[in-house]
Parts: sequence; C-alpha cells; structure tokens
Amino acid sequence: MRLDNKTVVITGASSGIGKACAYRCAAEGANLILIARRSSRLEILARELIEKYSTNIVYFECDVRYNDRVENVFSTLSEEWSRIDYLINNAGLSRGLDKIQDGNIENWDEMIDTNVKGLLYVTRTVLPGMIQRRDGMIVNISSIAGREVYTSGNVYCASKHATRAISKSMQLDLNGTGVRVCNIDPGLVETEFSLIRFRGDSERAEKVYQGYTPLSPDDVADAVFYCMTRPKHITIQDILIMPTDQASTTVINR
Ligand code: NDP
Repeated sequence: MRLDNKTVVITGASSGIGKACAYRCAAEGANLILIARRSSRLEILARELIEKYSTNIVYFECDVRYNDRVENVFSTLSEEWSRIDYLINNAGLSRGLDKIQDGNIENWDEMIDTNVKGLLYVTRTVLPGMIQRRDGMIVNISSIAGREVYTSGNVYCASKHATRAISKSMQLDLNGTGVRVCNIDPGLVETEFSLIRFRGDSERAEKVYQGYTPLSPDDVADAVFYCMTRPKHITIQDILIMPTDQASTTVINR
C-alpha cells in the first residue's frame, strides 16, 4: 500500500525522525503539511521533495508550544488541504541531563510545553475533521524514556511517560470513531537530539552514539510507515523499536 492522495501532517519535520518521515511519505506519494520552527530548513526540504517526487507540500513555521499559533496554521489552510488523513506528532526535545535537585526550570518548561502540551494542541486542532470523516490516524512518537526512567532523565522521561499515557487515552476515547492511534517508542536514534539536549556541545553529543550502532531516523520512519499502511481494521497500538545493541535505556553494548 502506498500513500497516494493522502495528506500527512508532520510536526518537527526540519530534522531527524520527522524529516525521515517526510522523505518516506513523499516517496510513497503523500501530500505533506510540514511544521517546525526553522522554516528555512523546511523550505529546502520541501523543494527537494517536490523536485524528486512531484508531490504537493506546504510548510509552516510554527512553535507548537503556542496553541494560538497551532490553530492559526490549520485555519489558514486552503480547501484542498482540509482533509488530513495522518498526523505524525513527532516534534519534541530534551534539554539538559541534570539531577532533579539541580534541575533548570526553563529546561523543564520547554520539555513539558513541547513534548506534552504541543502534542495536545496539534492533536486537538486536527482531530475534529478526522472524527467527522470517521477516518484518520495519529502516530505519536514517544520514547523508551516513556517506559523507563534513567538517572538525570527525570523531566524528559516524565514528558514521554505523559505522551504514552496520552496515546493510550486517545485509543480509549477514540474507540468507535474510526480514528486510529499508534504509539511508537524508539530507543537511541542518531539525530540532532543530543546536540539540542547539550545545547550545541557536539563532542558530548557525539559520544552518545559512539561504540555501537544506533537506530537511524529512517529505521523509525519505516516503523511509522508500517503503522500507517495497515488495513483499516488493524491498529498497531504500540511499538518499541530498539537498536540491537541497546537492551534498556542504560544497558548498551558499546
Ligand atoms: P531532532 O532534534 O533531530 O528533531 C526534533 C524536531 O522537533 C525538529 O524538527 C525540531 O524543529 C522540532 N521541534 C522541537 N521543538 C519544537 C517546537 N517547539 N515547535 C515545533 N517543532 C519543534 O530530534 P529527533 O528527530 O530525535 O526527535 C524527534 C522525536 O523523537 C522527539 O519527540 C524525541 O523526543 C523523540 N525520540 C528521539 C530519540 C532519539 O534518540 N533521537 C529516541 C526516542 C524518541 P525546530 O527546532 O526547527 O522547531
């Protein structure tokens, strides 16, 4: 099954997993609505994908932490973009790796506002159309950090536990509406994630992925695509996808 004539919203499409999902969905024929704060990156990505796959793409500079900005994106979409078939809630980040007693409040706010509230805002805006059409799928990118906690992971882990709880809640609340919800929990994926976490300290970020083979963003996009292309009577509720060298958040064969 391909995604011809389907419309996919991807948040956090300017980098990593979101960008890989954009590539995969475009290659499979989907039309894309791309969202991130760095619109210059989205512009380059959209140009590349349109050239390569002749698909339709619109992109929006939007910080998902602000509900009014999220609503504004979707209210400005023209009629041809009004039917959203898939929403990939991927925008997210981690900031710092400090014990709770040393935690930086701004980092906490940023993680919770992005990973939890941002995901809720986009979902709340997109869902009514899906429910009305009795068709649609939401894919939430959570994390192994939504299943386990690790030392100094505190608030990031809490935000991803919340994402998993929201995924399960959506599955319960949307039962019978025709809208499907998939939760995907990746282990370590080599993206800009650690560079953002350590605020540009590339030496420290690179160490996270050294001495073993982490997942690639394409590996996760492949799992997302699998969920998206099951027949309508099937929902892949939950996927845990780990590098073979990673047995848990902290047990890594380096
Ligand atoms: P990247 O840093 O490469 O990508 C993160 C994306 O999120 C970027 O496109 C960024 O865009 C976007 N983003 C961040 N904050 C906002 C915001 N406020 N508004 C809109 N977009 C935002 O990391 P990954 O690709 O690794 O991360 C993607 C998701 O995967 C995250 O939810 C992360 O928690 C999760 N994850 C990652 C793992 C990993 O090991 N890498 C493991 C498990 C889960 P911009 O800055 O342009 O706004």
